[in-house]
Amino acid sequence: MAQLVLRPGKDRSLACRHPWIFAAAVERLSGRVRPGDTVDVVAANGRPLAKAAWSPQSKIRARVWTFDPEEIVDNAFFKRRIRAAVERRRLTCELHRQEGLRLIHGESDGLPGLIADRYGDTVVLQLTAVGPEKWRLAIVGALQQASGCTRIYERSDSNVRRLEGLEPVTGWVLGEAPQEALTILENGVRMQVDVVTGHKTGFYLDQRENRRLTRELAKDRATLNCFCYTGGFSLQALAGGASRVLSIDSSGPALATAIGNLALNPQLDGSRAEWREADVFNELRVLRKEGQRFDLVILDPPKFAPSAAHAERAARAYRDINAFGFRLLNPGGLLMTYSCSGGIRSEHFQQIVADAAADAGCEGRILRRLGAPPDHPVALHFSEGEYLKGLLCQVD
Ligand code: SAH
Repeated sequence: MAQLVLRPGKDRSLACRHPWIFAAAVERLSGRVRPGDTVDVVAANGRPLAKAAWSPQSKIRARVWTFDPEEIVDNAFFKRRIRAAVERRRLTCELHRQEGLRLIHGESDGLPGLIADRYGDTVVLQLTAVGPEKWRLAIVGALQQASGCTRIYERSDSNVRRLEGLEPVTGWVLGEAPQEALTILENGVRMQVDVVTGHKTGFYLDQRENRRLTRELAKDRATLNCFCYTGGFSLQALAGGASRVLSIDSSGPALATAIGNLALNPQLDGSRAEWREADVFNELRVLRKEGQRFDLVILDPPKFAPSAAHAERAARAYRDINAFGFRLLNPGGLLMTYSCSGGIRSEHFQQIVADAAADAGCEGRILRRLGAPPDHPVALHFSEGEYLKGLLCQVD
């Protein structure tokens, strides 16, 4: 097998079990390898450290499959890792009974570049690196076996594939498209999941628990849901008894699905729901001019800072929307605000929100720190896995 030799001193992050090997850490590669092949990783002094997938086009030159240099990376390896990941989701019945559940969360489940989400009997698979690309067949077989699903759809169309020199791949790899629209029940609310054209693998599973919290908080509150996508937070607020729910998104198709989702839930009082197709940055100012006020404002924007390089501009955007969110609150109102930007750490996000409150002339406190649920675990040595952070704030 080919050997990847690290530069002197560059084995430290590997010793801490961080799974990425950057180009600058590589001294040389000996032997013939193709992209995605498994290589033996050794320290400068020749000590074996790990086995990793070679990724020549990416700045992350190799991703570790196993820190046991003796472990063999073969079909059985993927069977074991995938089964373990699926088993981990049985940890709590809360998790286990979800129809929408992340089964595999990449690096944090010991499977770099591999995401799998289950929606009922359908699993959506996303391969984002050349390593898992190489093992596609083994992965599909193991996923089918471990999950017991009848359909697998591949959504390997994420932009990060380009950094690996990979073309987008989409399509049914097991079974066929279902006759009827795919839906899941989440916290008592039925939601459509479009695995073919929806964002990510079709749905934002990472906000499941925070949507449930919204339901608990919404009673009699006039609620504003910014960046509502297909209405996940909006419908939970209605289910919780919000007095009104105004939802904003710039995507017409997302709003159409949101309105369709409301229709799927006749138990909800649709007369309390209002929808606006607009740019949130403008519309927050419009709402202010209209003299509107809310008791609960939710801000769940898209990723403004994919990496640290974008952090400064992203920080201004977060500060802007959060300041407007604060300005629109009634006394005692709640702001539920999120960032899913990998480039913004949680302390930084808290500072941005504090600055935004100052801009708005508000005082208040953090009631809760929010994040992704346990089907999106964060490996102890992979803090990059903690991308979603949120704050629940209450103003005076
Ligand atoms: N909260 C949602 C997920 C939000 S995803 C859920 O729980 O499912 C982010 C959404 O922001 C997308 O629907 C996208 O269409 C929308 N969006 C992005 N930029 C926007 C902008 N400037 N104004 C309004 N909506 C925007």
